[in-house]
Amino acid sequence: MRSLVLIGHGSHLNGESAGAVYRYAELLRARGLYDEVVEGYWKEEPSLRQVLRTTRSTDVTVIPMFISEGYFTETVIPRELGLGHQGPVPEGGVARVLGGKTVRYTLPYGVHPGMADVILARAREVLPDLSAQDTALIVLGHGTTRNENSNRVIYCNAEQLRASGHFAEVHALFLDEDPKVGTWPEVVRSPRVVVVPFFASEGWHTLETIPEDMGLTGEVTVFPENPHGPQTVYYARPVGTHASVADVILHLAEEARGASERGGDEDRTHAEAWAAFLALARQGTRVGEALITPHGGLFEIRHALDEGRPSDDLTTVVTPEGLRDLTRRDEGGHHRPVHTFRTLPRGWRAVLSEADLPRGMHSLYPAVVEESYAHQTHTLRATPWPTTARRQTGIYTKVQRATPEQVEAVSREVCSRCLKTRLWAGEKLPLTFFAGVPGAIPCPEACTYFIAEVREEVSGKRGQETVSGE
Ligand code: SF4
Repeated sequence: MRSLVLIGHGSHLNGESAGAVYRYAELLRARGLYDEVVEGYWKEEPSLRQVLRTTRSTDVTVIPMFISEGYFTETVIPRELGLGHQGPVPEGGVARVLGGKTVRYTLPYGVHPGMADVILARAREVLPDLSAQDTALIVLGHGTTRNENSNRVIYCNAEQLRASGHFAEVHALFLDEDPKVGTWPEVVRSPRVVVVPFFASEGWHTLETIPEDMGLTGEVTVFPENPHGPQTVYYARPVGTHASVADVILHLAEEARGASERGGDEDRTHAEAWAAFLALARQGTRVGEALITPHGGLFEIRHALDEGRPSDDLTTVVTPEGLRDLTRRDEGGHHRPVHTFRTLPRGWRAVLSEADLPRGMHSLYPAVVEESYAHQTHTLRATPWPTTARRQTGIYTKVQRATPEQVEAVSREVCSRCLKTRLWAGEKLPLTFFAGVPGAIPCPEACTYFIAEVREEVSGKRGQETVSGE
């Protein structure tokens, strides 16, 4: 048995941020090469602290879904997963045994040599007859002075594609450092120019900054009077959203596994938690704001306040993904980075098979079954706030300066909106929903949303709209 975990950044503010990771997880699930594909996030749920607990097997490969190496892949993710590794990740990844699971952590997908094929595929989408006679390629990176590795990947890909002989010339240019993208008319000589942004997703840079800096008006722009003669620029979509990134992820995962063919076993604690949950669901139960009702081998989940409403009045979905998409936002359309906030929208029902029920629950209340079962069986360890605060780095280091009064003030506002009970602050939770108390869900450790809010409190910026170090 083997689990594949995709780690994304996620967002406390933007509900679309996790979209690319969702899509790759779905693509990889459909390939059926892993027994499960699980997602985890820095700023959404399941968090990096929770995600390993949610995996079904004892053989886990973790892929950071980032386009380049940097602070998150080298510092934040290994630290939060508890890998005991900091700094550059070696080529073969980092392997550790954690809580009885073999966990392999790889380099981010963006640095895999297979990304050169993705760049070529993107280039061919906009210019199918590209040729070594008259076509130049610009591999366009963001560029940053903070981590030299993030630029290295652009140069490596440019080098690889130069050697491939598909183009007359290949250039590596950057948005934020030299050689800058605005210099392209001087450095590129070929009459046809394909620009492929080496970015993880479509966004402000790909939609606005790059076209502006290059003078592009659309997918194809003609420049009749450039220094090297007339040129036509073909602007491709970013590499990170190409479907073949799924192949790169699989290569990366297999390389990290090396010669190990065997896979792991079913994680016993995980299996026990879900067996206990299924036994509960078969009788009908409530978890948080959700009501679960068995129906002839299937399970219906709906908001508990919609109990008794005719099914025809509700939007019905029949997949865990459908359930995820209906419950990602509250009724006002706002993103729900913390799924246990009491903002579960009403007006829907999900009808799921027993096989799909765990993934459905995972979408609705990530890690809640595993953590509640662990609490029920006295194996959930709480992490007190000072320990969480001490672990923070980068822009979050300042939460270490928060006074107990400030932490409490944030709790009163943030945690009071949440179903969970703060074990990390010493609160007691004698029973969980496993014992029939629907809203009894443990919170063993402050979530990243809470940490971000404490940071804003310490900075004196709480309550302002654009917060949380996004
Ligand atoms: S820290 Fe507060 S808001 Fe975050 S999950 Fe725990 S109880 Fe909920």
